[in-house]
Amino acid sequence: MEMMEDVVIVGAGIAGLATAVALKRGCGVREIRRAKSHRGYVTNVSAGDVQQVHFRMANNGGDGQGIRTVHRKVLLEALAEELPVDSIQFSSKLAVIESEEQGGASIVVIHLEDGTTIKSTVLIGCDGVNSVVARWLGLVKIGGGAYLGILTGLAEPVHSGRSAVRGLAVFSQGHGFKQEVHQFVDAGKRAGFVPLNDRELYWFLTYNGDNMPGDPEQIQKQVLEKYAEKFPSSYLDVVRHADLSTLTWASLKFRQPWGIIFGKLSKGNVTVAGDAMHPMTPDLGQGGGSSLEDTVVLGRHIGNSFINNGGLIVPGDMAKAIDDYVKERRWRAAFLVTGSYLAGWVQLGGDKWWVKFLRDGIFYKYLFGRISGLVHKDCGKLPAMSFGDMDHSGKKD
Ligand SMILES: Cc1cc2nc3c(=O)[nH]c(=O)nc-3n(C[C@H](O)[C@H](O)[C@H](O)COP(=O)(O)OP(=O)(O)OC[C@H]3O[C@@H](n4cnc5c(N)ncnc54)[C@H](O)[C@@H]3O)c2cc1C
Repeated sequence: MEMMEDVVIVGAGIAGLATAVALKRGCGVREIRRAKSHRGYVTNVSAGDVQQVHFRMANNGGDGQGIRTVHRKVLLEALAEELPVDSIQFSSKLAVIESEEQGGASIVVIHLEDGTTIKSTVLIGCDGVNSVVARWLGLVKIGGGAYLGILTGLAEPVHSGRSAVRGLAVFSQGHGFKQEVHQFVDAGKRAGFVPLNDRELYWFLTYNGDNMPGDPEQIQKQVLEKYAEKFPSSYLDVVRHADLSTLTWASLKFRQPWGIIFGKLSKGNVTVAGDAMHPMTPDLGQGGGSSLEDTVVLGRHIGNSFINNGGLIVPGDMAKAIDDYVKERRWRAAFLVTGSYLAGWVQLGGDKWWVKFLRDGIFYKYLFGRISGLVHKDCGKLPAMSFGDMDHSGKKD
């Protein structure tokens, strides 16, 4: 089967769905209930000290204060609801990308694993940390449909040497915790939990190393009996209430910041967003948020190009819009990747006195509470009219 599309987005995670919504609607999604935490506690497990942290914006900005927690499933459903049912093609795995000239313009030819071929003017790779699109950006076409098989443009993500276990805990009778963030730190380990609602909590453990059995039940056992054995009973009780179907373990990868600053993040009308562009360690909790930032910036540039060209996709102008998106995101993404890595390095540090001083005396005392302010970003507004409002003759519906 062969299809022709104006825009193809690969991947239907947070970045892919949000990009589709940004391009189609140019406006927001239904209000999602987000739990907001203004306060947190950090427990130094070996010393038993507890520090209270007040989350605030750098400018003490009113409603923007605090850490917001949203159920990933709820966010994905809210985004998917905004899209026409037939705009999402499930179980379609991208296998190969090529480019070809058509009518004097370059178009992308996408081959799916099921044999489908899609030709598209624009391709946006939102296919996560192991992005096929990001890898393709670094390949050089040598003619006759062949590509040089070495990476020339965008370095692969690297292992951070750290791992994370994460999951949801469900208390059918209610967990009884206030809307506050609880963290527990020990040499080489950091754990925590935060309520999502009255019955569910999100919990995690990150640690130096990358060993863990694959089975969720075994992972839970290892957390309880090996990694967090000495952690307070409140944390262990949360882990005991894990919904095993949500429990995952991952060896954490990130793209090195210089790879993002100097690497090839677009080629003509092809680019990447979300983890495909800037996988980062989870230590600032910005992977999902920065993916949403990408989509607003990309939606703004593509939407403006579309509007300025009377509702038409003009390849040269679209390539410029995508280039402007990359320029706007490069340094921001590199900043977040670096900040996340360093925050993890400080928090997972060893038990030397100066590491503890950096962690407890500086990071948790002066920076942790200000994280929401430090990472705050106004990405501008999406154009009022976008793809969903026009037919391809440029007329508004
Ligand atoms: C331990 C841990 C804790 C985290 N905590 C937080 C947090 O507190 N806050 C936060 O904001 N973020 C957090 N994150 C990060 C966050 O989950 C990611 O940054 C976010 O999901 C990125 O969204 P994405 O859409 O770019 O990628 P993904 O969510 O990975 O989605 C990629 C999509 O592409 C699809 N795909 C992949 N390859 C192909 C292909 N070849 N063809 C077609 N489709 C393909 C996948 O199936 C998937 O649906 C955490 C991550 C980890 C590992």
